[in-house]
Amino acid sequence: MWNAQRMKSPALETRPRTEWERLAAAMRPEGRAFIGGQLLESRSGRTFEDISPIDGRILAKVARCGPEDVDLAVDAARNAFETGAWRTLDPRARKRVLLKFAELIRGELEQLALLETLDVGKPILDSVRVDVPSAAECMAYYAELADKLYDEIAPTPPGEQALIRREPLGVVAAIVPWNYPLIISAWKLAPALLAGNSVVLKPAEQSPLSAIRLAQLGLEAGLAPGVLNVVPGFGEEAGQALARHQDVDLVGFTGSTEVGKLMLRHAGESNLKRIALECGGKSPQIVLPDADLAAAAEGIAWGIFYNSGETCHAGSRVLAQEGIRQELVQEIARVARSITLGHPLDPGTRMGALIDERHTLRVLGYIDSGVGEGARLVLGGRRVLQDSGGCYVEATILDQVPAGARVAREEIFGPVLTVTGFKDEAQAIHLANDSPYGLAAGVWTSDMNAAHRLTGALRAGTVWVNTYDRSSLATPFGGFKQSGSGRDRSPHALEKYCDLKTIWTAYK
Ligand code: NAD
Repeated sequence: MWNAQRMKSPALETRPRTEWERLAAAMRPEGRAFIGGQLLESRSGRTFEDISPIDGRILAKVARCGPEDVDLAVDAARNAFETGAWRTLDPRARKRVLLKFAELIRGELEQLALLETLDVGKPILDSVRVDVPSAAECMAYYAELADKLYDEIAPTPPGEQALIRREPLGVVAAIVPWNYPLIISAWKLAPALLAGNSVVLKPAEQSPLSAIRLAQLGLEAGLAPGVLNVVPGFGEEAGQALARHQDVDLVGFTGSTEVGKLMLRHAGESNLKRIALECGGKSPQIVLPDADLAAAAEGIAWGIFYNSGETCHAGSRVLAQEGIRQELVQEIARVARSITLGHPLDPGTRMGALIDERHTLRVLGYIDSGVGEGARLVLGGRRVLQDSGGCYVEATILDQVPAGARVAREEIFGPVLTVTGFKDEAQAIHLANDSPYGLAAGVWTSDMNAAHRLTGALRAGTVWVNTYDRSSLATPFGGFKQSGSGRDRSPHALEKYCDLKTIWTAYK
């Protein structure tokens, strides 16, 4: 997403840190659940502390929703669905509401960007340029589809007619991770709502704040109460209650492969609800000897260090042809050194904090394990800015990583790049595909024949050639293998939020 379509907001992009800090100090983020159009405490009265990874400060006490709150939210969603307040609206009316929703998100650029940065630790520049505008653009994209989609008529014998109609499923649960809370919520909400469903959104416990604000904006835009609900809380509590709920028709899940597998189990042990999975990745970037090394280094560095590597499709393992590996590593390190790590509210910061203390220790543990398994530490590797009370780890490059090392196989989800050499194309393809994941891949070469061979051979949902992380709402996004089964973005995303109904009629 580092080079996703960016919106320019010069006044916000250059605003000094002191000004953002003044606004942050005055901010009182809402932490209550949003159910049936109302802000509610959890029924048990329990809360949890939402801590900013920037400096360890408590941002809000957030409703710790449990099964009883989930029941309430699912009932509100089901009720809104049955009354037809949303689903039976003229598609043009649904379009107006979703366009208004997009406009309200854009109108709150400053507040939403600040909320996202405080909650997740990402640079304010990215929240302003990418996260908030992308969420708004996603709402608008699906809104625009509302009155442009047609159903089908199947070929039948004379005297009969078979219509194939798309219908909404009913109650959709969206369970999302913490790395791009607004964007990933929008990827699920917009197509699910466009299709006429009601939604219960469960944000990650590390980043619940923007979801609650989003639901308030949805109501203001004209969504009937109950059409969009938010139940903040922990995975094993609110998340599990949703996944095991008898009246949820689909879980649209984005998160780790490990929890994705649990979703399938929960569905099997409850009502056989549908499960759409967007899971983890360990995406390879193959660099052939004829590649433009400067361009490859730039794409590779940003492809891993953007969002501090907390990106599902981060290009986290480089496979470089042995003849150019050393030169490439030096080039990547040069670019990485230019990526400023610092306080996320500083407009010059390009790499901010990791999500929390636990994850930071996990990432540092991986770096140690990589060195222990024989990798050479070329850059970074340390925790820094510890006086801040926050979670900061340097951009880290490990070279000469054995292909079987844990760091080369497991998703680290942090600013750690591994580099492994290969001899020939066949070995590169083997190493790239030798992974349980298949979310994305990159190929760097000036030989278009090689590019075609490799893009055909790589088992990944997206393959970039001579670029990385280019994205658009017009293209589907999702994984092969254990990276998932669903697709977000593009008209294809609608498929998972709809049932197909055949209506067969005889006539004279
Ligand atoms: P996670 O799997 O720990 O949590 C994701 C969500 O699931 C959270 O809301 C969490 O509360 C919930 N959850 C956790 N345990 C649960 C349970 N037992 N039952 C129900 N819900 C439960 O993932 P994370 O740490 O928040 O996010 C990082 C992961 O997300 C990485 O693996 C990353 O690759 C993946 N991800 C994938 C995509 C994609 O589009 N493929 C995008 C972003 C992130």
